[in-house]
Amino acid sequence: MNILITGGAGYIGSHTSITLAKAGHKITIVDNLCNSNIEVIGQITKIIGSKVNFINGDVRNTSLMTKILKEHRIEGVIHFAGLKSITESVANPLLYYSNNVLGSISLIEAMQLNQIKTFVFSSSAAVYGGPAYLPYDEKHPTNPINPYGNSKLQVETILKDWAISDHTVKVSILRYFNPVGAHESGLIGEYPTQFPNNLMPYITKVISGSLTHLNIYGNDYETRDGTGERDYIHVMDLAEGHLAALSHLKNNFGVHIYNLGTGQSTTVLELIKEFEKVNRIEIPYKFSSRREGDLPSYYSDTSKAFKDLGWKTKYDLEQSCQDTYRHVKYIVQLSD
Ligand code: NAD
Ligand code: UDP
Repeated sequence: MNILITGGAGYIGSHTSITLAKAGHKITIVDNLCNSNIEVIGQITKIIGSKVNFINGDVRNTSLMTKILKEHRIEGVIHFAGLKSITESVANPLLYYSNNVLGSISLIEAMQLNQIKTFVFSSSAAVYGGPAYLPYDEKHPTNPINPYGNSKLQVETILKDWAISDHTVKVSILRYFNPVGAHESGLIGEYPTQFPNNLMPYITKVISGSLTHLNIYGNDYETRDGTGERDYIHVMDLAEGHLAALSHLKNNFGVHIYNLGTGQSTTVLELIKEFEKVNRIEIPYKFSSRREGDLPSYYSDTSKAFKDLGWKTKYDLEQSCQDTYRHVKYIVQLSD
């Protein structure tokens, strides 16, 4: 299929572009590069061995999106473009509603004008809010606790209403847990230019020498070792999840919601130990106070994705730590 990937220069979008292209789809990427680098497009080209269409543009520009969808004969859209920092969303909520909600509305409008009805949306475990029970399954109540989570849930609602208004619409909503790792080549991965908020990007900044040590936010939670527990999924498993969701939409109308995670939880200390062991390096860290708004523990029930999509994860945390380190070494050597 001819697939538009918004945010395809970003972390998850770039890896998914590779998986889709390797599966035979023709890829067009739109990204305004607000949180990514144009060089990623060259790396994708190198990995897949053929050129990808790239347009530097903003999804909020409906006329541009309408034109791109038409010119590239797009048949389906995977929508990654959006902002993802919870902390930033609390400080600047309008920026998040503009990018994430208005951006999605603009894109759907452009799709409607072109009669395109296949849509895969990057949602987040952040839509669940505090756990009423664990693991989260897709029936868990949604009660986001920050503007970022609200923005994702609002788009989910818009997609459900779109599908009610038109029964030929096909939507997959994918709620990601904590993506980590990198492509096995080391050429692409996650190495933020701005101050990192998430755990793995922070670790990459420490091991590359840009930051002195990791602050572990709290060691007095009711978890195995007192540190926060999350469900870390390799980004290439996540990419395969998008391919599976897209294939499933071929024969299924309506809205389908899936958790994409591993179903396993890992504490901050366990992640550090694994990273140190497999890469034979030391990660300096200090315990600091809890981060405001942090949940002690959450992880996914992924049985629905397995049942409907036949999708399950292939990579483990060891592979995630190895691939992350390979990418960091590649970036550091480039800047030397
Ligand atoms: P990322 O920041 O690496 O990628 C997002 C890309 O979208 C960037 O390249 C950015 O330049 C682009 N972009 C942002 N706003 C845009 C706009 N208005 N128009 C065009 N391009 C725009 O983030 P990611 O980790 O790859 O996340 C991709 C999606 O997955 C996001 O929607 C994010 O909310 C969601 N998600 C991410 C995580 C995570 O932990 N990484 C977890 C759950 C959900
Ligand atoms: N974390 C930490 N130090 C950091 C970043 C994160 O100790 O610099 C912890 C955080 O408290 C949580 C886990 O790592 O327990 C995952 O945090 P992240 O921000 O990556 O994901 P999220 O909390 O959004 O699921």
